[in-house]
Amino acid sequence: MTKYVDCHCHLIKSINHCADNISKARSMGIDTCLCNATNENDWDALLALSKKIPEIRVAFGIHPWFISNIKSNWNKRLTKILLSNSNFMVGEIGLDKNKALFDLQENIFNIQMEIAARLNRCVTIHCLGAWDKILQYLKRNEKELPPCIIFHSYNGNEKLTTDLLNKCNAYFSYSLLNLNNITNKTKILVKSTPIDKILIESDSDNIKNTILAFDKIASILDIDKENLSKQIYANSQKVLNHGQTK
Ligand SMILES: [Zn+2]
Repeated sequence: MTKYVDCHCHLIKSINHCADNISKARSMGIDTCLCNATNENDWDALLALSKKIPEIRVAFGIHPWFISNIKSNWNKRLTKILLSNSNFMVGEIGLDKNKALFDLQENIFNIQMEIAARLNRCVTIHCLGAWDKILQYLKRNEKELPPCIIFHSYNGNEKLTTDLLNKCNAYFSYSLLNLNNITNKTKILVKSTPIDKILIESDSDNIKNTILAFDKIASILDIDKENLSKQIYANSQKVLNHGQTK
């Protein structure tokens, strides 16, 4: 059976609902998924989930939409959780120009990037309208970056892809959201992404959407599906291993 990895999902409902969802996805070939937190309240749920299903990969972080009521010492708690398991990653973090408190967003983003770099963990970034800030951060901290960075639900352009690849160990994760309406821009974007840097994701709790995202990528690239799925699966294994080849 073709194997896939959902490189960005959110399992927002109960643990049992998640377990059920994951076992259904597995029967369809989705080997594992990288489940991201969006706020501190998710952290305990993800810890419980990873205990129940150790094959599931989890990422802890604070999303830029959820920064207004962070608790004091959140960064210490995040560090402690990450240190408890070397498989744990950092995510979903990021910057969103359309949302409030941009200075605070930047501050929290920077702290999380520093933690990921220090603990050598792969990080997942959400970015809307703030690519200049991301590129500035990568340039300013080029010697102390996380070992790999997933740009999730990626919707950039050819030049941005090149700039990001020049600055960090970047991976570009495509979701059905950006692939539903395949425009010329989408085609150019996907075709210009190096094939060993492509990931796929559901960006939801509907993990099986990962396969639909894969089918869209395959139709754009017009290459042998079997080889493509093997390549994307290998890319996923690499990010799950914090950018290292096992
Ligand atoms: Zn997300």
